[in-house]
Amino acid sequence: MSPVAVQEPPSAPHLPSHPPATHPGLIKVVRSTKAFASGAVSEISLPAGAVFAKITTATPGPKAYTSVQTGRDTHIELNSDLVFCNHSCTPSLNFDMHKMEVRVVDDRPLHVGDALTFFYPSSEWEMDQAFQCTCGAGEKCKGLIEGAKVLSREALEGYWLNPHIEELLRERDAN
Ligand SMILES: [Zn+2]
Repeated sequence: MSPVAVQEPPSAPHLPSHPPATHPGLIKVVRSTKAFASGAVSEISLPAGAVFAKITTATPGPKAYTSVQTGRDTHIELNSDLVFCNHSCTPSLNFDMHKMEVRVVDDRPLHVGDALTFFYPSSEWEMDQAFQCTCGAGEKCKGLIEGAKVLSREALEGYWLNPHIEELLRERDAN
């Protein structure tokens, strides 16, 4: 064993410690060293319903905590900073996985500095990993987020949902 003391190298702020931004001027990634605590905020303002970004870098993959469901049995990885959009029960964005575009929600505009979030059950029938929501939406918060499968029609009212979720809900409720 070497007796030489190992010293921490001085930090080098000029060297990037993470990949370059995929949506500069649009998405600001807020990184945290805590697990699942990173997020994204908007760098632009847009009216309600406007297209925020097209999803152009997705690749098919298995269901995972980072994947987004695109159909009954299909999932993609976003491969971009869009992956930092967290769940909220009062989201700022809709992820339309059929048109492959991200839009501002229909009932309020997006402002610079707003947290970029979407309602995960709008695409996920059964989450790969259920989690306790801490979005702070009060009575509107669904609590444990497991996917659309376990949410009542009442709980889903007012949310834009992907066509595959609408289809799966129709099947569920017909039985
Ligand atoms: Zn919530």
